[in-house]
Amino acid sequence: MIDPHGRAITYLRLSVFDRCDLRCLYCMAENTTFLPKAEVLSLEEMDRLAGAFITLGVRKIRLTGGEPLVRRGIATLIDRLGRKLAAGRLDELTLTTNGTLLARHAEALAAAGMRRVNVSLDCLDPDLFHRITRLGRVETVLEGIRAARAAGLAVKINTVALRGLNEGEIDRLIAWCGETGCDMTLIEAMPLGDFPNALRGRELPLPELRRRLETRWSLRPSDHVSGGPARYVEVAETGRRLGFITPLSGNFCDGCNRVRVSCTGALNPCLGREGAVDLRPALRGSKSDLPVQQAILAALRHKPQGHDFLSAGYEPPPSRRSMNSIGG
Ligand code: SAM
Ligand code: SF4
Repeated sequence: MIDPHGRAITYLRLSVFDRCDLRCLYCMAENTTFLPKAEVLSLEEMDRLAGAFITLGVRKIRLTGGEPLVRRGIATLIDRLGRKLAAGRLDELTLTTNGTLLARHAEALAAAGMRRVNVSLDCLDPDLFHRITRLGRVETVLEGIRAARAAGLAVKINTVALRGLNEGEIDRLIAWCGETGCDMTLIEAMPLGDFPNALRGRELPLPELRRRLETRWSLRPSDHVSGGPARYVEVAETGRRLGFITPLSGNFCDGCNRVRVSCTGALNPCLGREGAVDLRPALRGSKSDLPVQQAILAALRHKPQGHDFLSAGYEPPPSRRSMNSIGG
């Protein structure tokens, strides 16, 4: 699959569920209305969809959400995708999770062939963690991370940087990542979906945060490329990688190799743009995978060159396009 701008699309981010057991301030409203269950693809349909993408050239799949691990039966999908991995049809299967159920699933993930997971963790302070996630207990997530490490999974921490909220916790997180052997990526908050007005102005540009970090840490350039939007440095004091994802302050679209599919089967060629293509009719209308493959290729023709978060008059898309339904 080559998009109209010459980029090979080899990476699928599949949102397996819009539901979540947390309500992070920047992601979901407290009273979010979730999609009717009938609109959400079954796990069998997701497996078929994954198969169609693999046939078209996808080599890496990341399961995300919502919270993938709260979906009942998720272990079955992971197991099926693990078989595609074992058969050499995929290079990598991975997961982004809030970590609340990781302790329960870590061994099964490793057994399915997963080698690493991303865990979202914005701070270590229990009260602040509860404030940002509205429902979470940081200790549960830390237990999940310990279980993942014990099962042999590499863990990368994802931290959304928010002015006046967790900006004072970043040094502590970097030190903690060094102690626990985790890499870390800082993410600029993106004004999507349910992003509340109350958080407007709390977006913390990462170039500013980086300058501050450089007064405390020695950040060495790193040529590590993950195939994603993060740009990495190595923290000399800890020996761990630190990534920066800067959708607002820096254009990261040139090397984009990914597409997203929502839990309803909507293929989103770009996180920052409207214009999803519904793959469900093709999936449900025929037992053959050919119509699905044709629909995917047709959708790919709409992949834009880049997002437009910063263009004049950009308004966040309606909440149905929030991070939890598209898959962050
Ligand atoms: N529930 C899982 C988790 O939190 O890791 C997976 C889904 S979550 C939508 C995926 C990632 O998107 C998380 O790292 C989260 O911090 C990030 N995210 C959510 N809303 C965001 C926003 N408005 N701006 C930037 N990142 C966001
Ligand atoms: Fe749930 Fe992840 Fe969104 Fe937080 S960021 S509300 S954990 S989906």
